[in-house]
Amino acid sequence: MTLNGKVALVTGASSGIGEATAEALAAQGASVVIGARRTDRLAALEERLTAKGTKVLSLELDVTDQDACKAAVQAAVDQFGQLDVLVNNAGVMLLGSIVGADTTDWTRMINTNVLGLMFMTDAALPHLLASKGSIIQVSSVAGRVARVGSGVYNASKWAVGAFSESLRQEVTAHGVRVVLIEPGMVDTELRDHITDQAAKAAIEERASQTRQLQAADIANAVVYAVTQPDYVAVNEILIRPTDQA
Ligand code: NDP
Repeated sequence: MTLNGKVALVTGASSGIGEATAEALAAQGASVVIGARRTDRLAALEERLTAKGTKVLSLELDVTDQDACKAAVQAAVDQFGQLDVLVNNAGVMLLGSIVGADTTDWTRMINTNVLGLMFMTDAALPHLLASKGSIIQVSSVAGRVARVGSGVYNASKWAVGAFSESLRQEVTAHGVRVVLIEPGMVDTELRDHITDQAAKAAIEERASQTRQLQAADIANAVVYAVTQPDYVAVNEILIRPTDQA
């Protein structure tokens, strides 16, 4: 129980990587604050974790709403008195060509993946500076390798990498660790929300030929990063399925 007495806030905890990460951090003894828009899914997770003895605060949270981000962090600190780990996981991947795109997809990706992550970071930083805590930024292989058909998702995750590296340099001397996690293909609901049917079919075809990562594989990487001694900063973890070139 390496995270006994620690408090972690996970965004996008209603499914996939966020849900698995909240479970993994709780299994290490952390109290968890779980946020997302689908409160029914959060309630089910809260029930499971509470049954195992974890202290849980479940919050309806849309990270594109800056006031909601501030309120979520405040609620976490009001409830538990501190914040040690922020996992900026909430994200959408609305793949599709740039030519002829539905640009409302672009707005959703930038608002969620980039601005939402920045709003949460801004709200949490005073508390993480006080606790010498950690920020986990869930980027992607797509933040390192751009491909046809994922231009704006690539841009959003590139932005996460740039913002996080600048932040790392700014706060590391204050003892705050910034960790960039870059998963390859993980078997979650992420693809279900793609609106471009050709792009959706193409990635589903790729997924069917890949032994995908499981959400728990990424959660394990998060636990590894946040359970190192204070003087060890895990800056970046890139983790692909073996089958993914
Ligand atoms: P899921 O679709 O399962 O999870 C996405 C989560 O983000 C959900 O809990 C969703 O909750 C939440 N979310 C989306 N929009 C918002 C919002 N505006 N406010 C708050 N929460 C929001 O997919 P994954 O678990 O795969 O995705 C998690 C992260 O991992 C994303 O950042 C994604 O880009 C990244 N990633 C995923 C990979 C994969 O192959 N699956 C690969 C690389 C990176 P709700 O809808 O209830 O709000």
